[in-house]
Amino acid sequence: MSDVILLADHDGGKVAKTVAELATFAKRGGTPVAVILCANGAADALGAQLAGTDVEKVVAVESDDFAQFGIPAMVDVLAQLVDSHKPAAVLVASSARGKEIAGRLAVRAGSGIITDAVDVAADFATTQSVFGGSFTVSSKVTHGIPVITIRPSAIEGASTSNTPVVEKVNLTISDKAKLVKITNVQPAVKGGRPELTEAKIVVSGGRGTNGDFTQVEAMADLLGAAVGASRAATDAGWYPHTHQVGQTGKTVSPQLYVACGISGAIQHRAGMQTSKTIVAINKDPEAPIFDLADFGVVGDLFAVLPQAREAIQAKRS
Ligand SMILES: Cc1cc2nc3c(=O)[nH]c(=O)nc-3n(C[C@H](O)[C@H](O)[C@H](O)COP(=O)(O)OP(=O)(O)OC[C@H]3O[C@@H](n4cnc5c(N)ncnc54)[C@H](O)[C@@H]3O)c2cc1C
Repeated sequence: MSDVILLADHDGGKVAKTVAELATFAKRGGTPVAVILCANGAADALGAQLAGTDVEKVVAVESDDFAQFGIPAMVDVLAQLVDSHKPAAVLVASSARGKEIAGRLAVRAGSGIITDAVDVAADFATTQSVFGGSFTVSSKVTHGIPVITIRPSAIEGASTSNTPVVEKVNLTISDKAKLVKITNVQPAVKGGRPELTEAKIVVSGGRGTNGDFTQVEAMADLLGAAVGASRAATDAGWYPHTHQVGQTGKTVSPQLYVACGISGAIQHRAGMQTSKTIVAINKDPEAPIFDLADFGVVGDLFAVLPQAREAIQAKRS
């Protein structure tokens, strides 16, 4: 069976949760091989985190140049690995960074690329949800090794008894990939909540919050969820733009999306309508979000959310 390469992205010594998801998709079409590109001495600890996933082999390239020269250096090495392994496909998580890596890699490999897939079949035919989810598109790369980016949470990563061995490979990063040097990186200050695009549950607030996100945040914390916001809320300065969900914000696909005081404009739907279960709380029974919701509550979010929290807490105790 051919190898299917998946990029094992990591941050702060932790492998991203999306890697297990990519591996489960990869297994449909071949042997999932995770590629770790990391600093000198970091590969073993990162590779160990892939135990229990569908990953069967790990290929690691260690170099402090990745931190200094960023994505071009990573793509330079990935292109060399693709050239030597001739995988059946390359899978990358759909983040801004993932899509940049995939795009550059596709150019280097002379391959077709598909971005933002929500499903990938054994023959690497993909499904995308486009134009705000108004259309479901099936497509397949027709030239070269398919390079596919997949939206986070599009599948549940499988639990296995695999303990893949980390094979370290020495590769030289070309001078062409070192034309820009990163001189400083300042991580954004993060709260204790999960990352929006990776969270299993997202609770979002819109103009209906009138700028008071206390109830939205309290529900998010009770559910271990990330907080999202509509553009009306972020443009008003009620919540940071980094939390905006939609066409010009982030795309999320959690197991559960709770929309509070959000009307459900097409541009908002574009970022959340592939969520598995959608719950809407809105005081207008005609709000378009109810056309999309699996469960809807017509009511004032400031009355509904505290009652819902109480009911969840009562059920838990
Ligand atoms: C090019 C372009 C890109 C855009 N990109 C995005 C994007 O990425 N993301 C995005 O979200 N929007 C985006 N928009 C804006 C989008 O068109 C809508 O204007 C926006 O989504 C509306 O946000 P909202 O639902 O919070 O506000 P509204 O549409 O004003 O809806 C507020 C809702 O809250 C309800 N409500 C009011 N008070 C309460 C209460 N107390 N309890 C319960 N319900 C209450 C109301 O009934 C109403 O349905 C974009 C627009 C354009 C033109």
